[in-house]
Amino acid sequence: MTRAAVCVAANRARYWSGAGARPDDRENAVKTADFKFCPRCRAPLVEAERGGRVRLVCADEGCGFVHWNNPVPVVAAIVERDGRVILVRNRGYPPTWYVLVAGFLEPNETPEHAVLREVEEELGLPGEIVAPVGAYPFERLNQIIFAYHVRLAPGEIRLCDAELVDYKAVPPENLRPWPQGTGPALRDWLAARGLYPPIVELGAEVPKTD
Ligand SMILES: [Zn+2]
Repeated sequence: MTRAAVCVAANRARYWSGAGARPDDRENAVKTADFKFCPRCRAPLVEAERGGRVRLVCADEGCGFVHWNNPVPVVAAIVERDGRVILVRNRGYPPTWYVLVAGFLEPNETPEHAVLREVEEELGLPGEIVAPVGAYPFERLNQIIFAYHVRLAPGEIRLCDAELVDYKAVPPENLRPWPQGTGPALRDWLAARGLYPPIVELGAEVPKTD
């Protein structure tokens, strides 16, 4: 694929891995309240108990559609090179928000494949998985995040400019995990290396890095 085509694909898989409100959350997380009509028969959806919880179900009993609201899987990468972690800033983010490379899975894709695809799409270089970090529910966006430690290949980083505007390479001791989303994965990765930094809101002042 050409680089442009890769970037279009990455743009489709935009994922927000931070904290707080964001205007286009609705692109990323479809809330239960957003559903008004049955996608199968177009009857209204109504609340009813199914499987031990109140869910939205089709008002037409003959249809039987249930909106189960299962979480959406997401992959995130703690991208390491030369002992530093690559954080990226998405287009439209506040200037202080640097986050992990992350994205959605394509159909029939494993998380391992998806995370390496996202790294290559977003940074323009291949990576290899060092180890899984863990699985992290992100309740607010109804996602389950599969996080991996990924080592980036040598070479010049070329950001997918449809999606990203900047990156920085941060020494682990200067990283400050954020409380939600992919932040806990970064926290655990640092803890496994004997680092227990304070948890701070995304974009808070952090030690100066180049
Ligand atoms: Zn229906």
